[in-house]
Amino acid sequence: MGFALAEGAHSRGAAVTLVTGPVSLPSPQGVRRIDVESAEEMLRACQKEFKSADIFIATAAVGDYAPETKAERKIKKSGKAFKLKLKPNPDILQILSQKKGRDQIVVGFAAETHDVLRHAREKLKKKNLNFIVANDVSKKDRGFGSEQNIVVLLDQKGKTEKLGLMSKRQVAEGIFDKIERLLNLKHR
Ligand code: C5P
Repeated sequence: MGFALAEGAHSRGAAVTLVTGPVSLPSPQGVRRIDVESAEEMLRACQKEFKSADIFIATAAVGDYAPETKAERKIKKSGKAFKLKLKPNPDILQILSQKKGRDQIVVGFAAETHDVLRHAREKLKKKNLNFIVANDVSKKDRGFGSEQNIVVLLDQKGKTEKLGLMSKRQVAEGIFDKIERLLNLKHR
């Protein structure tokens, strides 16, 4: 979804920076790409970019936990049970949105398998977002790893907008239409 959004933003004339984890997708044309490998690295890269961004959209499915230590060399098997200690990853969107300026627009995603709208509304508030893109990932033909998606946009004013089953590129257009409407309201 992040790559589709980067392409959509570029086609509308935005200067786009795409911060991405390891994926095997080609860079969209005209987009500045920053590759990262961990949530910590993604946080640092986004912190640098956030200050000068008019619009920040968080689509990365960041792991909730990361290994506490990294092995320098291959861990050889011992045949015994192996315990891996995990530490919580930083919530990049939540950290950045606390510093959201009056004119900045911050958008998040909520990928849910049940009570989709309720959970999305909670995240909208908790993460101080202008709107959230709620995504039901319980179905195989949409969302993660699929070219198609079906989402609902929920905003701070309680407005909901359902976008039917469509390509991720079309979903990106729906998201930017909503952002343009918000910008028009702000600058009226
Ligand atoms: O809490 P949850 O992971 O469902 O929140 C989803 C939203 O928060 C997405 O926009 C995702 O990109 C962002 N997120 C983040 N850093 C995390 C976890 C989620 O920026 N560690």
